[in-house]
Amino acid sequence: RGESASDDPARNVEEKRDALAIYKSKRAGCKEQLHLIVVGHVDAGKSTLLGRLLCDLGQVPAKLIHKYQQDSKKIGKQSFAYAWVLDETGEERERGITMDVGHSKFETDTKSITLLDAPGHRDFIPNMIMGATQADVALLVVDATRGEFETGFDSGGQTREHALLLRSLGVSQISVVVNKLDTVDWSKERFNEIVNKISVFLKQAGFRDAITYVPCSGLSGENIVAKPKSEGLSSWYTGPTLVEVIDNFKCPERPVDKPFRFSVNDIFKNTGSGFSISGHMETGMVSVGDKVVILPRNEPAVVKGIQEDESSTTHAFAGDQVSLILSGIDQQNLAVGDIVCSPYNLVPVSSCFQAHVVIFSIKMPLTNGMPVVLHQQSLVEPATISKLVAQLNRSTGEVIKKKPRCLMKNSSAIVEISTQRPICVELHKDVKQLGRVTLRIDGTTVAAGLVTKIK
Ligand code: GDP
Repeated sequence: RGESASDDPARNVEEKRDALAIYKSKRAGCKEQLHLIVVGHVDAGKSTLLGRLLCDLGQVPAKLIHKYQQDSKKIGKQSFAYAWVLDETGEERERGITMDVGHSKFETDTKSITLLDAPGHRDFIPNMIMGATQADVALLVVDATRGEFETGFDSGGQTREHALLLRSLGVSQISVVVNKLDTVDWSKERFNEIVNKISVFLKQAGFRDAITYVPCSGLSGENIVAKPKSEGLSSWYTGPTLVEVIDNFKCPERPVDKPFRFSVNDIFKNTGSGFSISGHMETGMVSVGDKVVILPRNEPAVVKGIQEDESSTTHAFAGDQVSLILSGIDQQNLAVGDIVCSPYNLVPVSSCFQAHVVIFSIKMPLTNGMPVVLHQQSLVEPATISKLVAQLNRSTGEVIKKKPRCLMKNSSAIVEISTQRPICVELHKDVKQLGRVTLRIDGTTVAAGLVTKIK
């Protein structure tokens, strides 16, 4: 058997160094790339807002907008025309909700944005988690209409849960869009009231970076791309438009120097032969021709090709959203949630680990042996809380009580989590992206946190 370049680790390192140089030159002079997720309670106006944004940026052909306007008029839901720009399937249109995380691209002055449109409906939180694991930054959309903001924000509403999920999945930059301000006559008082309520909550939830609040209306298009024209808003608001807010986000660092980790979000057949996996480059880089190993099942494969935005490329780097064309592996031996890595630096695999978690506002306390659903990047896995190791002081992290009998809402703790089969997991201090977990029970997020020990 002839040795190929990728059999030799030393050569591999050398090639990677060259590729890193390619990476730096490729990115130099290019717009920075940013993955943006848009979250908020159902009906907060997310789809309308984004549809309007894409249209006003000239991203959508006038003919298509016209067609959507005609179609929506026919079914008596004229206001849906903009939302349809994003909702591609018929089912979503009929139900008037956004179900999956659809991708769209657009550009601001300094950035190239990939939009991950998150659904607001309760049943679809698992999709939102998937989107949030891919996101660098987020817009939290709230409906300023009297009564509606309160419904979305108070218990049962999705605004808080979405914000908590974002934070626990590592999204630290967030802007709040105070939407539908047309319904309250552009009231400055209403805007301030909402800003005050949310800012207290977001601080508690652990968002430390300065948060921008943008007043706008997706339906009328006010303060989305162009500065406000309506007297009601322009008389008191001189801050940035929504597009300016997006352009002002800071791009997170891309951990290209770390070991290669790719999380599998989807597996699909190619039109020709073989199959591809799409997913997120968590850390490191990968090149065409590389030998890889897919864990936890320990399946070797070779990267035959890399697709980014439907065109072929030779390398992919941390932060990229790409598809890998694989050979030498059976499609059945792969699953969503698996991790692809280099044979020279395998991702740890374990069925028992400890995490430092915060408990959300839950109705029933958490106890030993409780079954939960574990979310980690694209992985969704049945698990149990196998030990309550210690309860911690929320702000100092000191141990308050060892082996507590239960954990109440809003507390902080070290817990041991066990899964029936081994899964890929990293210490948060090593690879942040694979060291964050979220625990859910009966469709509600009960806790989220960071992996501190792997057994
Ligand atoms: P989503 O569930 O968050 O995606 O919300 P949609 O974009 O589907 O909007 C929900 C409803 O609110 C629709 O009937 C929209 O026409 C309406 N809507 C959206 N944005 C605005 C707005 O800025 N002002 C007003 N008055 N209504 C809006």
